[in-house]
Parts: sequence; structure tokens; C-alpha cells
Amino acid sequence: MTVTAPKACVIGSPISHSRSPLIHGYWLKKHGISGSYDRIEVKPDQLAGFLDRIRQGELAGCNVTIPLKELAFEAVDRTDDQTRRLKSVNTIFMEGGKLCGTSTDGMGFMANLCQTVPGWHTASKHLVILGAGGAARGLVDALITDGADRVSIVNRTLERAEAIAADYPGKATARTWSSLNDLLPVADLLVNSTSLGMTGQPPLELPLDGLKREAVVADIVYVPLQTDLLRQAAERGHQVVEGLGMLLHQAVPGFEKWFGTRPEVTDELRDLIIADITGRQAG
Ligand code: NAP
Repeated sequence: MTVTAPKACVIGSPISHSRSPLIHGYWLKKHGISGSYDRIEVKPDQLAGFLDRIRQGELAGCNVTIPLKELAFEAVDRTDDQTRRLKSVNTIFMEGGKLCGTSTDGMGFMANLCQTVPGWHTASKHLVILGAGGAARGLVDALITDGADRVSIVNRTLERAEAIAADYPGKATARTWSSLNDLLPVADLLVNSTSLGMTGQPPLELPLDGLKREAVVADIVYVPLQTDLLRQAAERGHQVVEGLGMLLHQAVPGFEKWFGTRPEVTDELRDLIIADITGRQAG
């Protein structure tokens, strides 16, 4: 009997920017697994055909990125409770003959937060999330599932924050940017999940005067590695959580499903991705 090496990939359009092959390639090598992980350009009208290749066993599964995450949610056979709340899928695998989809961003954020801030407990905390896009929804869900007392969602377009908050009555509230004056003194965790501060995007101009001294500050933007928000927070003595760790941790469940080994997020992996980020910025 011929045993074929498991294959996985990341799909989306455009796809050339994805760092997932670097992450999974590192783990494949580290664990001596003779599998592969590639980038495949898949447009929305090609998604159904591509997923059939997983159903037929040609591939063990894939990661999914823009613009396919919501379409993939509709296309899989089975999801979990959290994914049904988010209606978005970033990881696909086969289980019990069914094509399964899950979303690992929220888990990636929580794992990174817990690894960076030893002793972190979400229970009874007040969390302030900047942004109400796809990433924010995953964070809000993960933090409320982990026991957050209150989540304030601050967004330029209030309706988008209200749409998320409506799914978590009694826990999440939509707030305008101007309400940050009242929120900073009571926030235990401040997270930027907007695209502001990312290289090529407008800066995030948010003075942290008034932020409670013990508050933790996180940014999910990871290019640059240390955003202006994190630099300002570190200078004020806050514990800071970088976005790169979320990217690395969200990849763990997919690798385990496809290749059968739970990989670790190590400093060596982190350095590899940092070298890629700085190399591309220089190039
Ligand atoms: P998205 O769905 O496009 O949402 C973008 C968010 O940024 C929205 O809340 C938007 O507000 C806000 N925004 C954009 N431009 C703004 C401006 N000029 N002023 C005020 N607010 C502005 O994007 P996403 O998928 O949530 O991703 C957001 C960021 O997180 C990206 O930088 C992405 O690279 C990063 N990310 C990182 C990870 C990781 O693993 N570390 C994972 C996912 C995403 P409006 O609603 O008002 O437009």
C-alpha cells in the first residue's frame, strides 16, 4: 500500500502575501513530517471545486483567507458552536467523513494573551476592543466565552459595533470613539483590532493618558511588529501583547488536524517570521 504524505495549503485571492506556508513549513521540518503546505489562489467561484479535492482525500485540509471565509462557512458540512456564531471559517479539515470548518483567530488571540501575560484571567474583566471588523468579532466571542464581565466595542462605524454587540446582550456594548475618555480609566485590557497603525494604513492616534496603570494593551496588527500603540503603552509601563503571537497560535489547530502532531509556538518560529517581515519591508 502506498502511503501518501499529507498535503495542506492556504487558499484565498490574493494569496502571495500569506505567511502561513512559512509557519507550517517550519513545523513540518521541525517534526520531520514528509507533508507539504502550499499557497493556492482560489477565487470565490472556484471554492466548491477546490473543497471537493479535500473531500476526495487529495488534500488533508486548508486555511482560508480573504475573500473566502464567509463562503467557506456556508460550504462546509460541519462546524462548531463558536464558528456558527461567527459565520466565518479559517481552517478546514476532514473528520468522520465530513468536511469540517472552524475559526481559530479567537483561540489564537487568547493563547497569545495567556502566554504573554502569565496569570491572565479574563473572568470579571472589562475589555475595550477598538474595531468591529471580522477580527473583532472573533475576539469579542473568545473573550466573552472566557468569562469577560463587559466588552465595549469602539468603532468608527457604530452600526458595525452594534451588530456584534447585539449577539452578546448584557455583555457587549457598542461605543463611539469619543467615549474612550470614559472607557480608558476602567479598561483592564485595551485591544486594537482595527487596521489602523498597520504599515500602509493611517496611524492609530490614541493618547493613552488616563488608561488605568494595570491595564494590558494588545494590538493584533503585526506589521510593524511593535505598533505605535504598543510602543506608547510600553513607555507608560503597561504589559503589552504583540499581534504576531496571535498569527502563530491561530495556526496550531490546523497543523494538528492535518499532520497529527500538536506544534509549539517557539521563539525560533517567531524569529523566522520576524526575519520575513523585516526582509519584505526592506525589499
Ligand atoms: P476589517 O474587517 O476590514 O475591519 C477593519 C476595522 O478597522 C473596522 O473596524 C474599521 O472601522 C477599522 N478602520 C479601518 N480604517 C479606519 C479608519 N481610517 N479610522 C477608523 N477605523 C478604521 O479587518 P479585520 O479582518 O477585522 O482585520 C483588522 C486588522 O487585524 C488588520 O490589520 C489585520 O491584518 C489584523 N489581523 C491580525 C490577525 C493576527 O493573527 N494577528 C488576524 C486577523 C486580522 P469601520 O467599521 O468604521 O470601517
